[in-house]
Amino acid sequence: MTQVQPSAPLIELRDVHKSFGSIEVLKGVSMSVRDGGVVCIIGPSGSGKSTILRCINGLITIDRGTVRVGSFAVETLTKDKHLVPLRHEVAMVFQQYNLFPHRTVLQNLTMAPVQVLGEKPAVVRERALALLAKVRLTGKENAYPGELSGGQQQRVAIARALAMQPRVILFDEVTAALDPEMVSEVLNVIRELAREGMTCVLVTHEMRFAQEVADEIFFTDKGVIVEHGPPARLFKSPNDPRLKAFLDKVL
Ligand code: ADP
Ligand code: MG
Repeated sequence: MTQVQPSAPLIELRDVHKSFGSIEVLKGVSMSVRDGGVVCIIGPSGSGKSTILRCINGLITIDRGTVRVGSFAVETLTKDKHLVPLRHEVAMVFQQYNLFPHRTVLQNLTMAPVQVLGEKPAVVRERALALLAKVRLTGKENAYPGELSGGQQQRVAIARALAMQPRVILFDEVTAALDPEMVSEVLNVIRELAREGMTCVLVTHEMRFAQEVADEIFFTDKGVIVEHGPPARLFKSPNDPRLKAFLDKVL
């Protein structure tokens, strides 16, 4: 635990370095996200976007620098048991849903709050049903993940993240594996969360969505944040040639 100024950003990375073997994947990444902020990380494949998210929730240890989330100095949390309290605050949603296939939708939502947080089953169940309504899946509580479409499964995954009542949700290309007609139903859920003030960090290739929903965009290339700023400025008048080239390709 560290002392944190009340006005400090909720998430703060300073000069984060990370190598896998001899390859330096993050070369001094600094970024911050305010409480209630919505930021998008964009950039070419392999530029380190997922690695940044994994640093924020302590899925990987960093080599140098600091990562703070609220009062957690994440880089000091080396043991799994120390990471448990952080995982309550920082939820993550992945491209491949990662639902438990042999559990119903409702069980997918209730397992962790009951078993990990020790909350009362009746309370958790009520909250889970409300969350399923929120992601427009009322009536699917007894279905198994395999019986649902990709877009429905991803909405279950988002509801499952919310069931932990986190302060932050990290989204890693959560629409990338979906058929085009299912993308908007998932983006609509994220848009609503963002409007309600949930702190969100999104890695996404949906540039129009990023432009609409983000307070700030971070553009990564080869392990550095090349440029960042509000979407209106960044998309209309990018400064760095690497960002210009990237936007020319994806827009
Ligand atoms: P992005 O999400 O921007 O596509 P990643 O953060 O997943 O990029 O990966 C950045 C680089 O780090 C890639 O070259 C990738 O191959 C490498 N990398 C990521 N995770 C590992 C790992 N666990 N072991 C070895 N290399 C990794
Ligand atoms: Mg990635």
